[in-house]
Amino acid sequence: MSDQAPAVSPGHLYVVATPIGHLGDLSPRAAAVLGSVDRILAEDTRTSGVLLQQLGIQQPISALHEHNERAQTEQLIARLTGGETLALISDAGTPLISDPGFVLVRAARAADLPVVAVPGPCALVAALSIAGLPTDRFTFIGFLPAKGGARRQALASLRAVPHTLVAYEASHRIVDTAADLAAVLGPDRPVMLARELTKRFEQSVSCPAGDLAGWLQADANRQRGEFVLVIGGAPVAASDEVEAAAVLKVLLAELPASRAARVAAELTGLPRKRLYEMALMAGGGDDR
Ligand code: SAM
Repeated sequence: MSDQAPAVSPGHLYVVATPIGHLGDLSPRAAAVLGSVDRILAEDTRTSGVLLQQLGIQQPISALHEHNERAQTEQLIARLTGGETLALISDAGTPLISDPGFVLVRAARAADLPVVAVPGPCALVAALSIAGLPTDRFTFIGFLPAKGGARRQALASLRAVPHTLVAYEASHRIVDTAADLAAVLGPDRPVMLARELTKRFEQSVSCPAGDLAGWLQADANRQRGEFVLVIGGAPVAASDEVEAAAVLKVLLAELPASRAARVAAELTGLPRKRLYEMALMAGGGDDR
């Protein structure tokens, strides 16, 4: 009898990460789980069919994507409850990270069914790990809006975030998004662009936001493939001032400018003189 635990247990839902390019990144455990479950749920059965064929895995496969996830979830929960083992995979990387699966995983947890992660590749983590930007805290913003106005608005709402931002982007929008980064966050904001991670034409570049669109336009090949953008956080002074402006706004509703500046200085630790200037600019009355 083998002393190795079986790869899967009855009634479990396995959330399995698959490669984001390089087949060698599929873990032996992921292969064992995919080769042992009763059924594999895939975002696109044709895309995943190729991967599974390469691995010699012949488990039954069905589609689970954003259009049928809600409709499928009830019967999938019934299958799990009946003791079937299921594996969820997406086209690339970790399911649920800008990919389907949330509805099913939430329902499985609500039904107290075991949900097990089989971790592995994820483009956002891979990009972050090579960006050379702070990783102690970061915000993943998924895909920015496709339309320019909405995209710039979304970026403006993130302008003061002091920690690293990570975004996914498609090839047909990468140049416009790069230009918007510089226009909205400022040309000096540090960025790292990773394209085609783990693939043949993998490339990554670190530069100020103001240089990124030019770098992409210098060679049409640089605009091809899949992209992750890692964006440095707002300079501390800028984010402090945004916070101070919000504090001042509240104070100025009740107090004249100099008193509002004095209270704001105590609350934020910023210089009173600078806060007084900001209060006057915000329309506070000069009572000195
Ligand atoms: N679930 C996946 C993951 O774990 O990274 C991401 C799925 S999302 C629909 C696809 C996006 O991820 C692409 O448009 C691109 O922004 C990013 N991406 C995926 N693979 C990539 C790669 N090899 N290099 C760079 N970005 C990649």
